[in-house]
Amino acid sequence: MTERWTLVVHGGAGVNPSRDYADVETDLLALATEGAARLQGGVSAVDTVQWAVARMEASGLYVAGRGSAPNRAGIVEFDAAIMDGAGPRAGAVAAIQDVRSPIAAARAVMDLTPHVLLAGEGATAFARESGLDQIGNDPDFFRLAVGVEPHELEAEGDALAHGTVGAVALDRAGRLAAATSTGGLFGKRPGRVGDTPLPGAGTWADADIAISCTGVGEHFILAGGAGDMAARIRYAGLPAKDAAEAMLARVAALGGDGGLIALGRDGVPVFAWNSRGLKRAAAGSHVAPLVSVT
Ligand code: ASP
Repeated sequence: MTERWTLVVHGGAGVNPSRDYADVETDLLALATEGAARLQGGVSAVDTVQWAVARMEASGLYVAGRGSAPNRAGIVEFDAAIMDGAGPRAGAVAAIQDVRSPIAAARAVMDLTPHVLLAGEGATAFARESGLDQIGNDPDFFRLAVGVEPHELEAEGDALAHGTVGAVALDRAGRLAAATSTGGLFGKRPGRVGDTPLPGAGTWADADIAISCTGVGEHFILAGGAGDMAARIRYAGLPAKDAAEAMLARVAALGGDGGLIALGRDGVPVFAWNSRGLKRAAAGSHVAPLVSVT
């Protein structure tokens, strides 16, 4: 196969039909095209997905990083994971606090520790010791993500308003990577961990497929999530799109909704969702830039 590269990004499942997502569409398209140019320039897939997710965390347009909402105790806890299909290697943080870029913390776990996942106080302390930027008392840090209504922040746990960002990339050397970052469910219990930071649930990358999921994490965990989809490709030989639909059917059977982005070595973006829309964009050597939220 001739050299190819692709970046696919998502800004979460579900759109509010009464809100204007023009800013989100502009941002997603810019990310996809700038990221594809990075890949063309030889940047690795894993560095590109980290860059894209960090940008989305910093924008405050999405429910991740700046756009995250507090839990029932009034504290923001983030989940994030990054996975490099070359290896594979992975790093993740769960229920981490006080870090400006949760995906940078996940990357540090991958690069600097022998572990895959750090959680809670240990994760927060690790990020601090690693010199990662803290939020501290910055009153301007958090903002309401696009499409989120203020009353949703008061969710009682079963109202399940949520959001996430993610990216998958194929680089010129044929390597795949995935990254996902979230503020999780609004009004969640302190310590609640979703699918996002769990390799094989919300995030996955191996030599053949990279996947980033979004939706109510409990359903994705119970359906086997990204690991179920990857296994259908590896052991049953399913095309990625069919594997995605089959996994989402399991999510739907559990009463859940959501979506995913994925990328195989052919560089063709895979999108699947059963939610009301999936904010998404893609660009690459063989992919004309595209963006949509519906
Ligand atoms: N999957 C995320 C979680 O459950 C939320 C989302 O994707 O919107 O934490």
